[in-house]
Amino acid sequence: MTAPDVPDVLDVLNPATEEVIATVPAATAADVDTAVARAAAAQRIWAALAPADRARLLRRFAVTVDEHLEELALLEVREAGHVLGNARWEAGNVRDLLDYSAGGVERLTGRQIPVPGGIDVTFLEPLGVVGVIAPWNFPLPIAAWGAAPALAAGNAVLLKPAETTPLTALRLAGLAVEAGLPEHLFQVLPGRGPVAGAALVDHPGVAKIVFTGSAGVGRAVMARCATHMKRVTLELGGKSPNIVFADADLEAAALAAPMSFLDNSGQDCCARTRILVQRGAYDRFLELLAPAVEKVVVGDPGDEQTQMGPLISRAQLDRVRSYVPEDGTAGAGAIRGSAPDGPGFWYPPTVLTGLAPDAPAATEEIFGPVAVVLPFDDEADAVRLANATDYGLSGSLWTRDVGRALRVSQAVQAGNLSVNSHASVRYWTPFGGYKHSGIGRELGPDALAAFTETKNVFISSVPGSTEG
Ligand code: NAD
Repeated sequence: MTAPDVPDVLDVLNPATEEVIATVPAATAADVDTAVARAAAAQRIWAALAPADRARLLRRFAVTVDEHLEELALLEVREAGHVLGNARWEAGNVRDLLDYSAGGVERLTGRQIPVPGGIDVTFLEPLGVVGVIAPWNFPLPIAAWGAAPALAAGNAVLLKPAETTPLTALRLAGLAVEAGLPEHLFQVLPGRGPVAGAALVDHPGVAKIVFTGSAGVGRAVMARCATHMKRVTLELGGKSPNIVFADADLEAAALAAPMSFLDNSGQDCCARTRILVQRGAYDRFLELLAPAVEKVVVGDPGDEQTQMGPLISRAQLDRVRSYVPEDGTAGAGAIRGSAPDGPGFWYPPTVLTGLAPDAPAATEEIFGPVAVVLPFDDEADAVRLANATDYGLSGSLWTRDVGRALRVSQAVQAGNLSVNSHASVRYWTPFGGYKHSGIGRELGPDALAAFTETKNVFISSVPGSTEG
């Protein structure tokens, strides 16, 4: 006799307390099948609506998110351990992106191209059903970066959140229905990557995959998409430099550096975890950096004063620890902040100095509150070090010399750079990676076009003519 099949479930933990806060059924490949069929039907209804009506519904979705901002933020605090201020910003980012995308619906125009013998026009047609596979580090915004422009361009969206963070995604899908979007147009499939995620990637009814996650899984997803000739966007990892030249405002650079790698406990693909400092300013910069790191408030993410919460899981905590010996001295020195004891996946802010530039902590994405500081000699050396990684997602440079800012911005191989700032992801501007950090761009003015096929139509003014 065989044992009855036990349905698979996902236990959602509060990472600050390790308590199970919800148990969610895990989607199977059969669930994905059903969802794709329903989404395809909903997409036909959606694409047939007048653009102004689709825009209006997306704006209503944005308003509905706004009305539930605090609820979404508190859910993000509980399931992802994000500090309250960040969680509020993230829910607001979803609202803003829906609004911004709604503005694109009525402006998604093709072109009229001069040709002989008639006229030529292009149409930007929706792809159909789009699969969005999201990671756990920014569950709400990353879901929206894929879903909002895809919906605006006339597609249906199936979102597979990470195993550890399905709750905000599920709530978001509920709000879409409350706002009046057609049923099944935006569905959430909580489930395991190799089951529900793989089923989405392999499903012939899914026209494009937007994947955000690790480089390893991203490569495998891209290979599967290639076998189906499926469109794919990859947003992967990073090991981003923060380059501080001796001519910079060192106080400002040192003050800004801690949260550029400690925000979201360092679980940020854009975290500036390689702090490169010009030799002449190295000692002074460390003197300024140490107190700034030590005073970062780590603790209860629900407290308004907290700047950094826990890591997402025990597995992530073990991974971070593996890069730093218990005494905290992987290199010649270290700056350590504080973290609570007791339950929860806590790790203190940590800065390592004296490491070789090719040490694992200096080259691999740790995805925790750990940065390294490395000295450099001159501009060429800074660029060489900045580019000495497989990744190329983000980076910052601090200098008072505008010419240098331009030269270095052009020489660093990364998709998103900021000068005298750590700004990375803004919904107005394109976001994505060079090298192993990904393929394609999200956000910005062209975001909707990435969810369309271009169709070219020539209309002859001389019927029957073969000329041209
Ligand atoms: P991950 O690669 O383990 O998982 C990401 C998603 O892929 C999850 O939903 C997971 O369930 C799913 N998945 C796993 N195996 C799959 C498979 N075989 N087929 C289909 N889907 C599968 O990544 P993670 O640990 O959740 O996220 C952390 C990583 O994400 C980091 O490397 C980080 O840098 C990266 N990230 C990148 C960006 C960006 O925009 N570039 C943003 C945030 C996070």
